[in-house]
Amino acid sequence: MMRLRLIILGLVCLFSTAITLAAAPVPESAYGVAIPKDKGYVVEEIKDGLYWVTEGAYTAMFLTTGKGVIVVDAPPSFGDKMLKAIAEVTKEPITHVIYSHAHADHIGGASMYPETARYIAHIETKNRLQRMNDVDRSFPYGMFVGGKPVPLPTGTFENSYTLKVGNQELRLEYKGDDHEPGNIYIYAEKQKVLMKVDIVFPGWTPFKGLAIAEDTVGYLKAHDVILSYDFDKLVSGHWGRLASRNDVEIQKQYMQDIQTNAGKALQMVDFYAIAGEVGYANTALLFETYLSAVSQECAKLTEPEWIDKLGGVDVWTKDHCYKVIMAIRVD
Ligand SMILES: [Zn+2]
Repeated sequence: MMRLRLIILGLVCLFSTAITLAAAPVPESAYGVAIPKDKGYVVEEIKDGLYWVTEGAYTAMFLTTGKGVIVVDAPPSFGDKMLKAIAEVTKEPITHVIYSHAHADHIGGASMYPETARYIAHIETKNRLQRMNDVDRSFPYGMFVGGKPVPLPTGTFENSYTLKVGNQELRLEYKGDDHEPGNIYIYAEKQKVLMKVDIVFPGWTPFKGLAIAEDTVGYLKAHDVILSYDFDKLVSGHWGRLASRNDVEIQKQYMQDIQTNAGKALQMVDFYAIAGEVGYANTALLFETYLSAVSQECAKLTEPEWIDKLGGVDVWTKDHCYKVIMAIRVD
């Protein structure tokens, strides 16, 4: 009987999930490069020894220098594909590893790189990674994204750091908090390529909640910081293709619309009218009803303009609205 109940509950959940997941068609421009089934990844030279790699969901890059490879990030979803991609185009050993930021879904595979390599990151990334070793952690670092503890950075910086190896150069810069404190800009001036992870999602609405940005104001500002660099291609960390300047401009405009509409929605939705219906006895219920109504209004104002231009707009705009509304209220 218990088992039957569980099966019925499972079916109900499945059915309700299916309803929730119904969504508008994804524009063709959202999809990334085709991934060959046999290899499971694509590696392509962007320019002058700088390569990008994707398995379809994440993007990362590496640079051959004549004196060793500089690799940036190690998404655990790649498995050992980064090593294979590097071996496919060069015999140089990996001598330098850069972490874009501390999140395990982008660097949790870094233990596959040589121990002898130099690991470079922002000081805050090191601080955060040091928490990997906290004994009171509920879950080991990277556990739910297929990663595991990674080598701690041996070289750190606060504002900027120029890495010169062989005939190549990368400029690492920190411009303040956004997605996660410690999330850096990695700039290859000669190749006109910028890597900045988890801000721009080319062709798509950003990941849920402004891509879990810790600092909403900094996240929004990062679009202008990205555009202040002279670049042709942006390695943005997702979803299987490179971003162009135009992709950044498009997402910036979408974000500006969300901010405008969040402001409008805050003026349109009447808190006291909602309080009149919900009452003041349950504060959680009152604020949930109010903030949900404001977010919904903001999404309703934003979606028609963007639904045909970016993938997932109908899925996550309300959630972005919520984050922006909270920032307008308190930041
Ligand atoms: Zn991240």
